[in-house]
Amino acid sequence: MDEFELIDRYFRRTVGHGVALGIGDDGAVLNVPNGRQLVAVVDTTVAGVHYPDNLPAADIGYRAVAVNLSDIAAMGATPSWMTLALTLPASDPDWLEQFASGMFAAADAYGVALVGGDTTRGSQTVVSVQLLGHAASHAILKRSGARPGDGIYVSGTLGDAAAGLQLLQKGEAGDFLKERFRRPEARVTLGQAVASIAGAAIDISDGLAADLDRILTASGVGATVDRQALPLSAELLAWAGADEARRLALTGGDDYELCLAVPAVDEAEFQRLARQAGVSVTRIGVAEATPGLRISTGGADVRPLKEPGFRHF
Ligand SMILES: [Mg+2]
Repeated sequence: MDEFELIDRYFRRTVGHGVALGIGDDGAVLNVPNGRQLVAVVDTTVAGVHYPDNLPAADIGYRAVAVNLSDIAAMGATPSWMTLALTLPASDPDWLEQFASGMFAAADAYGVALVGGDTTRGSQTVVSVQLLGHAASHAILKRSGARPGDGIYVSGTLGDAAAGLQLLQKGEAGDFLKERFRRPEARVTLGQAVASIAGAAIDISDGLAADLDRILTASGVGATVDRQALPLSAELLAWAGADEARRLALTGGDDYELCLAVPAVDEAEFQRLARQAGVSVTRIGVAEATPGLRISTGGADVRPLKEPGFRHF
C-alpha cells in the first residue's frame, strides 16, 4: 500500500465544523469562529517509551488523541481539528484499522475532525497528533494565574493510570486501573465549564507534584497539599494500599486529570459548575505566597516535596 492509498483507506473522513479545505490538498484551511483565538497543542507518543510495546493498536490511537484533548481541556478550549504524523515499521492493515478505530473513537466523542496527516516508515511506532481548538480570549486557562489563597483542586481520582501501567507491563489483572491508562478521559467539558472562573490550570500528565509545581512556578506562588485529601479510587486503594496509593497519586503520571487553582470567592461556583459538568473535583490544598510545594498530613507535619514526576530525557 502506498502512502496515498493508506491515508485514503483508513483516515479520510467527511469534513467537520469549520473545515474549508480538509485532507487531500497540501494543507488544510480552517475557519476559527469570530471572536475566538486558535489554541494549538501537540503530543508525541513513542512505543516502548510512553506505552508498553504490547498495547493494542486501538488503545494507541485512542490515547494519542486523548492526551491532546487533555491539553486542550487544560486551556479551557474547544477542540476542533487535528493532524496526525504516523511513523510505522511496516504498514499492517489490521494494525492500521484498529489504530484508526481507536483514534476516531476519541476524536468523534468531541467532534474533532482529522484534517491532515503524514505517514512515514521508521524503526519504531511513533504517533504525533496536533490538536487545534479555539477559545474566547477572556476565558483561556493558563498556568500563570494562581494567587495566594486560591484553593487547589483536582478532577477525578489520581494514581490509577500509574498503577494500570504497572499491571499492563506485568501482564496482571485489574481492568479498571488498566483502562485508566489505556483510555484516559480528557476533562474537556470541565475545562470549558470553569474556564472563566478558575485562576490557573494544567493537565496531570507527569504526576500531580510535577505538574502542580509548573503552575506554582509560572504563577510565582507556592502551595501546601494535604496527602490525606488526595482523591483515590477504591480499586487503587485495594491494589496498592493507602501509603503506596498516595505516593502514586502524588508522583504517578498519565492520569490526565485537571489540576486547577480557584480564587476563594469563586470556589462555591466552581464546585457547582463541576457538578453540572458531571466531573468530581476535590480540594487538595491551598496556594500560598511562599514558593515551593509542601505536603501535609491532614494539615499537620508540613514538609517540602521535591520528588520529580516523569523524566522526558
Ligand atoms: Mg499538558
